[in-house]
Amino acid sequence: MIQEIAEGFYRITLPMPFRLDHIQSFALVRGKKVTLFDTDLNIPEGFSTLEEDLRQVGRSLADIDKIFLTHYHADHCGLAGCLKEISGARIYLSEADQEALFHQNREAELFEHLQCFCREHDFPDLLMGTLQELHAYFSRVTSPFEVDELLIPYSWHASGDRIFQVIPVPGHTRGQVCFYFPREAILLSGDHVLPEITPNLSIDLFHMEWRPLNSFLDSLKRIKVLAVEHAFPSHGGTIDYLSGRIHEIEVHHEERKDLILNQIRQGSDTAREISLNIFGNDLPEFDQYLALHETCVHLLELEHEGLIREIKTGTKKRYHPC
Ligand SMILES: [Zn+2]
Repeated sequence: MIQEIAEGFYRITLPMPFRLDHIQSFALVRGKKVTLFDTDLNIPEGFSTLEEDLRQVGRSLADIDKIFLTHYHADHCGLAGCLKEISGARIYLSEADQEALFHQNREAELFEHLQCFCREHDFPDLLMGTLQELHAYFSRVTSPFEVDELLIPYSWHASGDRIFQVIPVPGHTRGQVCFYFPREAILLSGDHVLPEITPNLSIDLFHMEWRPLNSFLDSLKRIKVLAVEHAFPSHGGTIDYLSGRIHEIEVHHEERKDLILNQIRQGSDTAREISLNIFGNDLPEFDQYLALHETCVHLLELEHEGLIREIKTGTKKRYHPC
């Protein structure tokens, strides 16, 4: 489905085979050329939908000459390499997410970090197999690509007579960015602000010192001050009241942190136990892994606030109130 959101600026809804069944890609048409923001997984339905939708506005995949990526996750960049092969488009991504892509492609090292993280937090070895299968799936649906240009925070780019700025919004990934069009008061918010769900926050297994929740909340403040009439997220519909949605997300994380602190005060002392208490024990396996990360991200913040302390015995991490 293709919809015009401003003159010559289109939102293209592409299919995904998950519970989250679509991703929003954006196309800016200038003359014969197309600037694309985010893609889809490299799946036939994504490819054909994009091809058909561009045809409706008189353009083809070969007309894409720039691809800007909000972040490195497969649902955003999976098709980028394939499109580059067809059109020779230049691909733009942040430096931190380029590094994340590099780590993702070095499987042996990645699984070693993953196993270490899971053992520290009592995540069952049995579920590791599912994580490896999923990793294999996401590798299959990402066509490999080289990044042509790193996105410098706050740099300006032009597409025809439109200009936009790269706003760094680390949180959901360490290198996520939003694209801000001040003249149109439009923000492409990627997975940073979503209308119905909060983006997953995960420990970066290659940067364990990084505090995702702290970064994420700072990044929310950074976009709150922008003059935005319509924010267009990567999943779901338009957000017309961005500061209200940001406030809801801030409140959610404050409440989640309190909930986790209470769990610890009541005697739960591992991230796995707390995540099962909060998110339930009937989640699909991958969601259990994401729930563990969300819990750890909040634990890290509580530790920084001096409210809890982490104690490592052998390979296991436990948490106690201060
Ligand atoms: Zn994402």
